[in-house]
Amino acid sequence: MGKDTGFLEFEKENIPRRPVAERVSDYKEYDIHFKEADIRQQASRCMDCGIPFCHTGCPLGNMIPDWNDLVYSGRWKEALDMLHSTNNFPEFTGRICPAPCEDSCVLNEYYTLDPGEKSKNKNSVTIEQIEKHIADRGWEEGWIQPIPPKKLTGKKVAIVGSGPAGLAAAQQLRRVGHEVVVFEKEDRIGGLLIYGIPDFKLDKKNVQRREQQMKEEGIVFKTNFNVGKDIGVEELLENFDAILLATGAQHPRKLKVDGSDLKGVHYAMEYLPQQNKTNAGDSLDPDFRISAKGKTAAILGGGFTGADCLGTLNRQKANKKVYQFELVDMIPRPTPVHEEAEMDCRAGILTERLTGDQDGNVSEIHAVQVKWKRENGQMLMERIPHSEFTIKIELLFLALGFLGPTVDGLIERLGVRLSVKGQEALESPEDLLQLLKEKEVMFSIHSNDNFMTNVDGVFAAGDSRRGASLVVWAIWEGREAARCIDQYLMGSSELPSSPQASAII
Ligand SMILES: Cc1cc2nc3c(=O)[nH]c(=O)nc-3n(C[C@H](O)[C@H](O)[C@H](O)COP(=O)(O)OP(=O)(O)OC[C@H]3O[C@@H](n4cnc5c(N)ncnc54)[C@H](O)[C@@H]3O)c2cc1C
Ligand code: SF4
Repeated sequence: MGKDTGFLEFEKENIPRRPVAERVSDYKEYDIHFKEADIRQQASRCMDCGIPFCHTGCPLGNMIPDWNDLVYSGRWKEALDMLHSTNNFPEFTGRICPAPCEDSCVLNEYYTLDPGEKSKNKNSVTIEQIEKHIADRGWEEGWIQPIPPKKLTGKKVAIVGSGPAGLAAAQQLRRVGHEVVVFEKEDRIGGLLIYGIPDFKLDKKNVQRREQQMKEEGIVFKTNFNVGKDIGVEELLENFDAILLATGAQHPRKLKVDGSDLKGVHYAMEYLPQQNKTNAGDSLDPDFRISAKGKTAAILGGGFTGADCLGTLNRQKANKKVYQFELVDMIPRPTPVHEEAEMDCRAGILTERLTGDQDGNVSEIHAVQVKWKRENGQMLMERIPHSEFTIKIELLFLALGFLGPTVDGLIERLGVRLSVKGQEALESPEDLLQLLKEKEVMFSIHSNDNFMTNVDGVFAAGDSRRGASLVVWAIWEGREAARCIDQYLMGSSELPSSPQASAII
């Protein structure tokens, strides 16, 4: 522990952020860096409390008190090495992780400089920011270099999908000497890091320089390769000793009300990738370009995806007043983009139908306030009488969450089975598609404890295995799956495991 009294002397500082007027006029990251002295002072607030809960709160088991101490002492390179021992991509999580570690920080739980304010004042160490500063310092100083394997095993692994799960697995597997080919159906590497999460949260240079590092380590990336279509499953099974499915979970939950097929109603994942592509310099077909400029927009859904639509609307100069409605009884967690608009943000709102103008454009949301109650262990929704209301809109974005992985050929051809959340029985992909016609269920690729599916040598990791989740969990899944694949190929593995995360899986 660097400074015994740090937590008594210094308050938690707010994250430095660009002023609203400046940041809504571009797509650059809204957060900026602390000054070095300030971030070291923040790190000195860590109490090194003896039994830290932060690193069990972190799915990766990041050794937080240790690197807090190293940062306080200015030993940045050692902090970076320690961080990399549990996390391949700390500059991603240091920017976009919801930081469950900070919720479990003892300082947050038990100590605040102003006890009367305890419930309001989350007083944890600024762990996520410290993580970002360590990683960024590593890139600035040139400390992050490719680490090619010293010897090769002669084994070949195919990874399908280049999101954080696929990338983490690829890097781990390469470092123990396997030949690794990553197939990606999109034209760029990164999965949702590139085509979901907006640039104002995560500058894409962060993903691109990792891609470069991994290429120099010997990983082969094949973009515009839809496995199951552009390359057959038989070819894959023949040419590789193991396959990892890291295909994400992008099957969207649908809005099943009258009018949901009107013009101007879009899934978030139709909208967000367009802006990221435009920022990257791609020219898009103007007939399909969704522009919110000057329009009144509403968002259904209060999670990350809804907030990302909001930030994009603000930067596209939509009408300043934006509506955001969430069905469950919880106001969407405020994020920096909420302070950029004049929000009408409400929880417990059920959309009942949409109506349009004479040209078929969406023009009104008809909704009602609902309340939720628990009965026999189940949450039941009840309409509040006379609470119906109508709102005039010109665009509507659906950010209602995701049900499971896309089932469009690959999973069927491999013969991989799926599990439906809350059910014991496994579904064949065909049965699952039939079930989805009847009711909405959440599902994922089934695997046993060692990440292997029902097909020998075929593994799964990330959102496709655990359901739509977080980048930090995807990295954890990729690392753990890599260890299991290495074990499968070689009989044993020296790749590390994160016991803390296994305990809270
Ligand atoms: C809009 C949005 C914002 C988010 N914001 C955050 C956030 O701020 N913080 C956070 O922690 N999490 C966030 N998430 C969640 C996070 O992005 C995901 O949990 C994470 O990316 C999952 O990683 P993954 O590698 O499993 O899958 P993905 O990132 O989805 O990557 C899967 C990849 O597989 C490819 N693929 C699929 N099928 C094939 C095939 N047959 N052949 C070849 N390639 C294929 C896809 O094209 C995709 O690139 C957000 C999600 C969304 C949608
Ligand atoms: S990865 Fe997330 S949970 Fe883990 S230390 Fe970083 S911010 Fe905290």
